Amino acid sequence: MTADNNSRQSQGLYVWQADNLLAATATLDGHWQLGDNQIESSHADLAVNIASTRIATDTRKIQAGDIFLAISGDNFDGHDYINTAAAQGAVAVIISRPMASDIANSIPQLVVSDTRLALGQLAAYRRQQHPDLTIIAITGSSGKTTAKEMLGSIFSRLAPTLITRGNLNNDFGVPMMMLELTDQHRYAILELGANHIGEIAYTTELVRPDVACILNIGTAHLGEFGSRDGICQTKAEIFHTLTDKQVAIVPDTDDYAQQLRNIAKTHTSQVLGFGSTDVTASDIKIHAEGSEFTLHLGSQAGAVRLPLAGEHNVSNALAAAACAYALNIDINDIVIGLNNARPAKGRLDSQMLGEHRLIDDTYNANPHSVRAAAHVLAAQTGTQIMVLGDIGELGEAAVSEHHNLGRAIADTGIDMLLCVGEFAPHSVAGANTNINANAASSIEAHAFTDKSHLLDFLQPYLQAQQAQPCTVLFKGSRSMEMETLIDALVKE
Ligand code: ATP
Ligand code: MG
Repeated sequence: MTADNNSRQSQGLYVWQADNLLAATATLDGHWQLGDNQIESSHADLAVNIASTRIATDTRKIQAGDIFLAISGDNFDGHDYINTAAAQGAVAVIISRPMASDIANSIPQLVVSDTRLALGQLAAYRRQQHPDLTIIAITGSSGKTTAKEMLGSIFSRLAPTLITRGNLNNDFGVPMMMLELTDQHRYAILELGANHIGEIAYTTELVRPDVACILNIGTAHLGEFGSRDGICQTKAEIFHTLTDKQVAIVPDTDDYAQQLRNIAKTHTSQVLGFGSTDVTASDIKIHAEGSEFTLHLGSQAGAVRLPLAGEHNVSNALAAAACAYALNIDINDIVIGLNNARPAKGRLDSQMLGEHRLIDDTYNANPHSVRAAAHVLAAQTGTQIMVLGDIGELGEAAVSEHHNLGRAIADTGIDMLLCVGEFAPHSVAGANTNINANAASSIEAHAFTDKSHLLDFLQPYLQAQQAQPCTVLFKGSRSMEMETLIDALVKE
């Protein structure tokens, strides 16, 4: 069925129907095309010619000349905003049901069965139009945004590079980022996340990376994936489109290293490991606000001063270096890029409050990243206090995971643990188990039902400790919005 057969002009509406936009582009017979964000028609009844370079899904961001694509979510339906889109200068709309109104009638409507899939098809088309672009895709349970920023720091010095903005890493965000590709870009660094099985298979198919990297297999979203094996399989979807011309990057020191390497090898003979094989670090010195180490890429070596705290960031830096190494980037350029990397907001960026240091790691949390954060805190000066909000999405494992976490945190030797949320008592119980088992550990742990009670404890405590500086690290799942505690302390 061609787009032309399927087009109709009814009740004054310009409406096309297409189940598959890519199939529609393939039926280019002078009637219409939708690719590179263009809609054209030379059909006698449908004399429309629209050339737009932008697809917008948010009417607040529409510019005159854009095509509006209506996305429906749990709490909103983009179809309710067709008139607003038209009034703000959209020149056409992509929707899943024809809309009739005085304003909507005046612009062409392309009706597709699923606008989210349409967005993906446009992204795939955009990739096809840029075959020479080099794309690095990163996934993993923790550190994607951080490693992506490190790669951005390496590559944007060398050539125009598209870098995932913020955290646009899902089946909606990735195609949105792909639509920002232009002819100027030489590289793209894209973060791929997984909220459900098959999501990375879908986004990888659109992205078709030249280098695909897995940072680690943690326990994030255990609820959805059932087990760490499930998480491993899901992350490994990022290797699905690789061929021998492309490179897979795997973590050597992860529990799932061998499994990931085996899966990668079924797709490409080019597999690079970071941690203990191809890309490694030696002479690692961890400081409070960063680290120094010697980077080894095969037989080459370079001295890195990484301005991001935490041993886990050495691992992220090795992953980023491995991706660049896979593309034959000079080691000096890799070192300069890593030396100039900056922490993203809410990922261990710190500020002073009088004599105390507040470390903001509130962006998000899973058991893996909480352990990493506790180790960072344990390396700081002064009294070490961790303020921990509940970790979400742990499914049935929530109670035991919080208990284990409390214990692991106490094991790092920090001085105080303040927990808030439904599972706070379990974390505290875990921390106290440690006291019983290990007389050397003397952590003070408290559970609070809400953040205001926690603040009522912490604020006077810090005021009383002015002579004895504390380092306080804040962490918790995104839903806990733990950064509001930092805001409250700083405002006082
Ligand atoms: P999201 O899935 O939310 O997009 P992400 O994978 O992009 O997360 P980042 O935003 O870079 O990860 O970091 C999130 C948290 O994970 C931070 O709190 C950081 O301290 C911690 N983290 C970063 N890298 C690692 C790592 N390699 N191992 C363990 N924890 C890490
Ligand atoms: Mg991220």
